[in-house]
Amino acid sequence: MSSESIAEAVRQLQICDACRYCEGYCAVFPALHRKRAFADGDITQIANLCHNCRGCYYACQFTEPHEFDLNVPGILARVRQESWQDLAAPSGLARLFHSHGTALAATVVIAFAAMIWTAKAIGSAGGCASKQGAPSLGG
Ligand code: SF4
Ligand code: SF4
Repeated sequence: MSSESIAEAVRQLQICDACRYCEGYCAVFPALHRKRAFADGDITQIANLCHNCRGCYYACQFTEPHEFDLNVPGILARVRQESWQDLAAPSGLARLFHSHGTALAATVVIAFAAMIWTAKAIGSAGGCASKQGAPSLGG
């Protein structure tokens, strides 16, 4: 996770901690008001409590063009994305998803379809064989 994103999230959340206008909007604000200092893990946890409704952004009196330039949903979304990329396993795939998400998703879908088609083909071939070998009940 980039320290720049964490530092920017801390800056914005400290302003919210002093303001408290959005306290009842969602779980983010009570969680951040319980803290006096923020570790990286605190910021990641708070970022994952946000569901990006943007209610606080439209209510905030400190968004652009105010000099505080607050965009709480924006910075929390950036932290979330970076934390998922950092914590996903295997890490190489996480980076690949970030840069070639559509191609990778299409490959996975095609691989699953091929697997299901193969299983179905094997199943019907096995079903025919067992029918051919089955004893007749009619004598
Ligand atoms: S988003 Fe703006 S209005 Fe809401 S708590 Fe933070 S500083 Fe206050
Ligand atoms: S955008 Fe996120 S932080 Fe802001 S009110 Fe909605 S859920 Fe809460």
